[in-house]
Formats: sequence, C-alpha cells, structure tokens
Amino acid sequence: MLPSLSQTLARVRPSATIAASTRAAELKREGHSIVSLSAGEPDFDTPDFIVAAATKALSEGKTRYAPAGGIPELREAIARKLKRDNNTDLPPANIAVTCGAKQAIYNALVASLNPDDEVIVPAPYWVSYPDMTTLAGGTPVIVETKAAHNFLLTPEALEESLTENTRWLILNSPSNPTGAVYTKKDLQALGEVLARHPRIGVISDEIYEHLIYGDVPFVSFAEACPQLLERTLVVNGVSKAFAMTGWRIGYAAGEASLIKGMNVLQSQSASSATTFCQWAAVAALDSDMSFFAPMLKAFRERRDFITQALNEIPGLSCAVPQGAFYVFPSCTELVGRTTEQGTRIEDDQALCLYALEQAGVAMVHGEAFGASPYLRCSYACSMEQLSDATTRLTKAFAMLS
Ligand code: PMP
Ligand code: GLU
Repeated sequence: MLPSLSQTLARVRPSATIAASTRAAELKREGHSIVSLSAGEPDFDTPDFIVAAATKALSEGKTRYAPAGGIPELREAIARKLKRDNNTDLPPANIAVTCGAKQAIYNALVASLNPDDEVIVPAPYWVSYPDMTTLAGGTPVIVETKAAHNFLLTPEALEESLTENTRWLILNSPSNPTGAVYTKKDLQALGEVLARHPRIGVISDEIYEHLIYGDVPFVSFAEACPQLLERTLVVNGVSKAFAMTGWRIGYAAGEASLIKGMNVLQSQSASSATTFCQWAAVAALDSDMSFFAPMLKAFRERRDFITQALNEIPGLSCAVPQGAFYVFPSCTELVGRTTEQGTRIEDDQALCLYALEQAGVAMVHGEAFGASPYLRCSYACSMEQLSDATTRLTKAFAMLS
C-alpha cells in the first residue's frame, strides 16, 4: 500500500483559481457552452519576438540544466529591469529565477519560516498565500481590509496584527482579486510601521506591475521604502504583461542570504527554471514594451465594459478596479435567494456553481480569496466573451427569487 499523504497536505486546499479554470476547460471539452471568467491569464499570444528568442535558444542548444538560481544573463536582465523601472539597485547575486512568481513566493516561505512563525496576509488575498504559508510550516494571519478603504491594508490594521512571531507581510499591488493599487504614500505608511519592527520582512508581489489603468501609478515597495530594502523581497515575473503564463518564469530579488537559501531549495527540487524559457525572458525584460500598449488598451476597454455591465445586473455591485485584470463584485443581495428548482443559494460558492450550471459562466467565489460573499471575474478574455457572459448572468440571476 502507498504511504498516506502528509499531515501538512491535509491542511492545504487545492488552488481554487486553478480548480475553477480546469473545470471550465473540462466542461468545454465535453461540449458544454462555457464562458470562462475564471482564468487569471491573458488571452493574448506571447509576442513574436519572445517566441523567436526561445526558438533561437533552442536552435543554439540551450537545452541543458541552468544554474539553480537562473542563468547569469537573465539575472543581469532582471537587475537592469529593477534599476530602469523600479529605481532599485540589486546585483544579480541578489536575484533568483524561479518557475513562475508562484514558486518564488513558495521558495521564499519554505526557505525562511520556522514553526510558530506568522505571515500577515491582508484579505482579500491571492488564493495561494495562506496555503503556501501552511505548506512552509508557518501560520497565516489573515487581516481583513474594507471595501470602503478600497481593500487596502491600513497602517493601523497592520500594527494591530503584529506579534513577536510575525515574520513576513505579503503585499500584492495591483491586487488579485480586487484590482486595488497602493499609492507610494500608502506603502510608505506601512513601511513606517515596519520600521519599528526590525524582525519583519515584506514579500511584495508585483506580478501585475504593468496592468495599471487609473490615476494611481504603480510603485514598487522597494522604491517606496528604500530604507527597508534589506528586508524586502520583490517578486515579479513575465507571466502577465508578456502573456507568458505557460513559460513558467518568475523571479525574486532581495537580501542575498535569503536568495542563497531559495537557490539551495531550488537545487534540491526543480533544479532550475526551464533554460530556453529563461533566454526568452531575457528578450522580454530587455524589450521596450512597445508591444504592450495595444494589450493594455484592450484590457482597459474590457475593464470599463465589464465593470459597467456587472453593476447593471441587479444584485451585484463593484468598484472600478485600478489594476490587474480582475473585478470583484459583491453579491450580498443574491445570497439567500432560491433557484427555480427550489435550491437556496447559501453562499458565494453556491452562486458560482449556479452561474456555471445555469448560465455556463465560470467565475471564482470570493471565499477562496478570504472575502465573502463576492465573485471574482477575470476580464482577460475577449469583449465578445465578456458581453456573452454578462448577458447570461443577467438572465440567470433574474431567475432567482
Ligand atoms: N501572484 C499573483 C497575485 C498572481 O495572481 C499570480 C497568478 N498566476 C502569481 C503570483 C503567479 O504567477 P506566475 O507563477 O505565473 O508567475
Ligand atoms: N494567478 C492566476 C489566478 O489567480 C492564475 C492561476 C493561479 O496561478 O492561481 O487566476
């Protein structure tokens, strides 16, 4: 008989975002008419010049293992990017290349947490932060934020949540799932609290850096609080802006001993991120981003469309997101209603299931992000799909009594 699964795994849930998009894809394959607003990935193809860089790397035989921390050329390109875009000076030795930003966060937590260590996770949060913390043997401490504060963590709430066991604060701006963006001032106010607590570091997940629509410009935590650079781990990657989710290249930049620890972990697990994809990422990060303007324009149009369309559906209400490609409507008024078959919609998960079964629209329930009752809709899909989805939802939700 196989040995049983670990006790740690028993405390971890599968990723709700991956589960929802996998389910939507399965239903489509079975022939159902499904519109998926569940996947957090751009529908655009990876730009040609990046594909060409990968093809060139393949034809040049760049098909062998890479150093655990990443090829020097990519770490240098990341250092250039951090200097150019984020006014942050970190040498390649302070940079680790990983299999996606997701693995950068996971490796950082596993490399740094001891039993009893706590990680502050402001809610709504990206689904993986608490479970990754648990997998790393730490304890996630969920700190609620308020819709009225645009779902931003306040310095007061941060201060109240700190204990002598706090090890990390995880920040994500622009945010998945709310699209909220921290201003430089917001980040500095949080930095002032942390300055009084020298043991605590910040993991700043900046994967949606380029997906910014409103008046609030993106600012890296490292740039806002340079005095905390030694305890900041910037996490970023090429998945979102470069439409490279499947290439699995991300990175972390921060204090050298943590980066070294993460590389030890990498050397004993994945070995390295895929070599020819790393060469493609060099081309991506060194580019002038001119390819991105039409993508950003499309995302902005989609955001404007879906925010308005969702707000016109009785029972849903949402703020206009400032970044990323998600909108996070509250569905309080729909919870407690009854379907035509007589089933009561108990919570946002039940509402998501109803939307999938009745309307063929896939979304992710807010509870998976630590906020209920909400729905997370990704608008990284075509206008036709968004229009179809909102028409279907309008009809399906109108049938609830
Ligand atoms: N952070 C956030 C907030 C995300 O939404 C995602 C989505 N995939 C990631 C990190 C991980 O990105 P990747 O591993 O594809 O680089
Ligand atoms: N981050 C994306 C999302 O939230 C992709 C899936 C995942 O990695 O969780 O949908």
